Amino acid sequence: MIDLRSDTVTRPSERMRKAMAEAEVGDDVYREDPTVNRLEERAAEICGKEAALFVPTGTMGNTIAIKLHTRHGEEVLCDSRSHILDWELSMLAWFSGCLVRAVQTQDGILTWSQIEPALRRFGPHNAPTTLISLENTHNMGGGTVYPQTVIDEICSETHARGLKVHMDGARIFNASIASGVPVARIVRDIDTVMFCLSKALGAPVGSMLAGSIAAIEQARLYRKRLGGGMRQAGILAAAGLIALQESPARLALDHENARFLASELAGMPGISIDPAAVQTNIVIFNVSETGLSTAEFSAELKHRGVLVNGIDDRRMRVVTHFDVSREDCERALQAIAEVCANCTAAAAQRA
Ligand SMILES: *Cc1c(COP(=O)(O)O)cnc(C)c1O
Repeated sequence: MIDLRSDTVTRPSERMRKAMAEAEVGDDVYREDPTVNRLEERAAEICGKEAALFVPTGTMGNTIAIKLHTRHGEEVLCDSRSHILDWELSMLAWFSGCLVRAVQTQDGILTWSQIEPALRRFGPHNAPTTLISLENTHNMGGGTVYPQTVIDEICSETHARGLKVHMDGARIFNASIASGVPVARIVRDIDTVMFCLSKALGAPVGSMLAGSIAAIEQARLYRKRLGGGMRQAGILAAAGLIALQESPARLALDHENARFLASELAGMPGISIDPAAVQTNIVIFNVSETGLSTAEFSAELKHRGVLVNGIDDRRMRVVTHFDVSREDCERALQAIAEVCANCTAAAAQRA
């Protein structure tokens, strides 16, 4: 099976498994796990922040960040297709008691001129906006990357108003490799950033939350409240350290494979896609002209050994990663071409 459903499906490499087996461990709730401590120091360094915290999932990292920057009854502004809004079980409302102020965007990328008119100031009728959350790269926007000037402007305007900025950087290394901007520069003015070790970087489990010492000290308590106080977590952190060391350099290959998929898909009957929109490892394309629903399209491909998910009833999303080679992409394209050709033939017969 060629699995293009997500970059979460990667399995740990041999080097990761070996490092996990040999990891030096201790009780991390006492902060005595040397491997977790090293991972947190390394993540802080890469992000150019004072401190970082190892969390089991990206959802927990985002949840903690939102709790850090808000109080009950306030608003969090994000774009309308954000992971924190659509894919985290309304955790922002459940744990932090906040409301989302969603802003529509073309490709998931917010600009200050879109944010400013949507900000709410505290008043007799309004709950105040206290946090802006930026998703970089943007998952449902198709792996889109924030231009640095846009991030810098949002941060300076937001901070001038006494508000905070969080970055949901689940795939921030994809953003960094695609733009050539180091992670520390991307988040220079960001208050907290979450990134995933378990996505494109290929580690089996874990995400990091980075920020100031004060923020991360408090974050440690929220992690405990959420049941995320892990003990000999160095077993997991060991794989994370390898992921940080080895994986970023490999991401350019994933991006090349994604561009290759997009340009070949553009030539297939029944598929519509703008290959120029593909910036990183996510490719979204519309299959409605094939006459198949996305569920039918997925089922046809599964018969042919390719796993792909739909994101709605018209559009599929494929994600390239560590465990997908150029040959796998070629085989996946052959399978898709076959499905498209069958649909064209069926349509001709009906006509
Ligand atoms: C995957 C992802 C997360 C976190 O996901 P977990 O499955 O909880 O680790 C957060 N934000 C974005 C944009 C993601 O793609």
